Amino acid sequence: MKKKIVIAIDGFSSTGKSTIAKLLAKKYNYIYVDTGAMYRAVTLFAKNNGFVGKDFLQKNELLSCLKSISLSFKFNSDLGFAEMYLNGNNVEKEIRTLEVSQLVSKVAAISEVRKKLVAEQQQMGQEGGIVMDGRDIGTVVFPDADLKLFMTASADKRATRRYKELIDRGDKVNFDEILFNVQERDRIDSTREDSPLIKAKDAIEFDNSDMGIKEQFERICSLVDSKLED
Ligand code: C5P
Repeated sequence: MKKKIVIAIDGFSSTGKSTIAKLLAKKYNYIYVDTGAMYRAVTLFAKNNGFVGKDFLQKNELLSCLKSISLSFKFNSDLGFAEMYLNGNNVEKEIRTLEVSQLVSKVAAISEVRKKLVAEQQQMGQEGGIVMDGRDIGTVVFPDADLKLFMTASADKRATRRYKELIDRGDKVNFDEILFNVQERDRIDSTREDSPLIKAKDAIEFDNSDMGIKEQFERICSLVDSKLED
């Protein structure tokens, strides 16, 4: 039987990590875990309970409820990927709004939140056969991952992609707001004290500003194939 490896994909916001991760999971029949969705779901919980807003974060109040936050993924065969559930409710659409994007990095900087989610992520990857994307997968969650990728692209290209995604699903957003959000999240994610977004020493960097999905995917598959042959 072929071995089942761990593939860690990190990088800046809206660099297409999840698109590549989903394609890899499908091709190799691996589990895909979108760790950003987990941070987004905790943020949605905090927002709905009035613990976080544009100008405030009630950290202690959020932490006192942390144990009661239950996160799970359920595979949706029509969509071909797993959707995020928060305390039993499908929140896949709600966690992708610009409002949640504007709050998530604040919540993700809280060490206790990270500790809980990292433990759950490590549990999911125990058996291998997993593609996980996020900000700290190759550095903190799976420092021994078999293959580590680090995705980058210009802020303008990334904001354009995110803008199109939100417009296509019917959200009313403006481009400058999206560009600001992408840059602001990069700033907070890269400068936080706990598990900042950095490229792991042994990660392979992909700047996909001018690279299509097909070319990226082919290159990455050849990296995976060579790991599988090792
Ligand atoms: O991947 P996505 O853009 O959905 O992630 C949303 C946010 O969640 C990031 O901007 C970051 O603040 C946080 N995050 C994180 N660590 C991860 C995944 C996401 O801090 N592993």
